[in-house]
Amino acid sequence: MDQTLPAATGFLVSAHPGGGQGLAPVFATQGSHAPVAQALRSQTLDAVLVHSGAPERAVARSGDMALVLAGELYNREELVSVLPPGAGAGAGDGGDAHLLLALLKVYDLHAFRLLNGRFAAVVATGDRVLAATDHAGSVPLYILPAPGRVLAATEIKSLVPEAARTPPSGRPVPEARRVRRVPGVHQVPAGAVLDLDVRTGAAVRTRTWTPPVSRRVMAESDATTAVRETLERAVRARTAGTAPLVVLSGGIDSSGVAALAAAHTEGPLDTLSMGTDTSDEFAEAGVVATHLGSRHREITIPTADLLGQLPHAVWASESVDPDIIEYLLPLTALYRALDGPARRILTGYGADIPLAGMHREDRLPQLDTAVALDMATFDGLNEMTPVLSGIRGHWSTHPYWDRDVLDLLVGLEAGLKRRYGRDKWVLREAMSGLLPEETVNRPKLGVHEGSGTTSSFSLLLMDAGIPEADIHRAKRLVVQEIFDRVVVEGLPPAEVATADAVRQVADRLKESE
Ligand code: AMP
Ligand code: MG
Repeated sequence: MDQTLPAATGFLVSAHPGGGQGLAPVFATQGSHAPVAQALRSQTLDAVLVHSGAPERAVARSGDMALVLAGELYNREELVSVLPPGAGAGAGDGGDAHLLLALLKVYDLHAFRLLNGRFAAVVATGDRVLAATDHAGSVPLYILPAPGRVLAATEIKSLVPEAARTPPSGRPVPEARRVRRVPGVHQVPAGAVLDLDVRTGAAVRTRTWTPPVSRRVMAESDATTAVRETLERAVRARTAGTAPLVVLSGGIDSSGVAALAAAHTEGPLDTLSMGTDTSDEFAEAGVVATHLGSRHREITIPTADLLGQLPHAVWASESVDPDIIEYLLPLTALYRALDGPARRILTGYGADIPLAGMHREDRLPQLDTAVALDMATFDGLNEMTPVLSGIRGHWSTHPYWDRDVLDLLVGLEAGLKRRYGRDKWVLREAMSGLLPEETVNRPKLGVHEGSGTTSSFSLLLMDAGIPEADIHRAKRLVVQEIFDRVVVEGLPPAEVATADAVRQVADRLKESE
């Protein structure tokens, strides 16, 4: 079976008592659409899946339980091993949806506590609808609960038309974030299951993962061995026997992933770097590509083009956080330039969060405060959404946010993260045998810095007459403005101009002076 992409990469679901209902999905994620209709004892599950050829593998049904799954699981062997003999057989090779169904029969919603994956899932059984995210909420999931009907989707834009028709239930959804300007729509928290009553729309939340708050003391060599082995397992699970493509900056994070992926790929690995006319990291990435013998490509995107793609970045990520959009914009441009057949893409994204890599100072209390804060506030930012590469039909996955890697890295004592004056010491040390010394020792450069995104976005706003002190606020307003066009109003991103949003924000700021 082709494992380039998971069986499904997105869905819109409606669960309701009574007969079938038509659904009109809107996805930025590219792919074929397949309808699903499962009539259960007291409700019907209707869905439209975004898929790449085998949608039946994303749906599972047994007795009075049906589910749809977008994404994939990374600890299949472990999961099969806990199933009773007989239930396990077949569950493993029927696809991840079947495996999850078998686990739900044994553990009910606690099955989600067992999963290490990148997914969103909706389960219907009895009068219940379960809406579940992976530990990191890496595949965003949104719900629109109303009495007699629960809607769920991996993209907000699929729920917008329904939200306009559905009177908000007025019921609070516990701990779920409301979506800006789309009444009734909430985002399912990371590492959580919402257990909804399809008759009333009432929801109860169960957490299935939380970041560790304690820190482990480990000997240097034990820590580096653990990091290397855990990361290697995460990379191997994500290559899934295919030839992946690694988006490579030449920093330690993506170079480490590339080195481990090369070891698990037959033939040469594909690597890809992007730069702009103002800034690139081509030399640094080239050193790694040569060292690994990868088939390496460079893409240069003019800065004006890059900023022009802001509407695509917001449309894909559905994020309103201006800092996150700055990280995601160069990657959006990179993925959009990657035409041709669908690819499985591995990135080094996210390593800095558990290791405080962006934290450029030496003091350990500040470092641990940064880790604790970042781990408490990542939810809802959508920085690892698969839709970003999904808009060109690709599938991206992030080994550093593998559940086991994340548990290990977050939980390491801060002195292992910064040691001998080195940031991310434990990771650099773990990778030292696999990469050139200059790569191992290279200082951190964020994607928003290496591509010049932050500075060129600032420059665009200053050119529009916005004073320097207002730049960050203006970025937030520009991103909101674009969100309102491409997500709330549903305009195609190609019909929304960054320059118009900037002008509107500049005018508004001038008026309010
Ligand atoms: P960073 O902010 O540098 O940690 O970037 C996050 C991830 O995005 C990296 O680990 C790479 O996988 C990818 N990335 C960053 N910069 C580039 C680039 N210039 N070209 C290709 N991929 C990149
Ligand atoms: Mg970098």
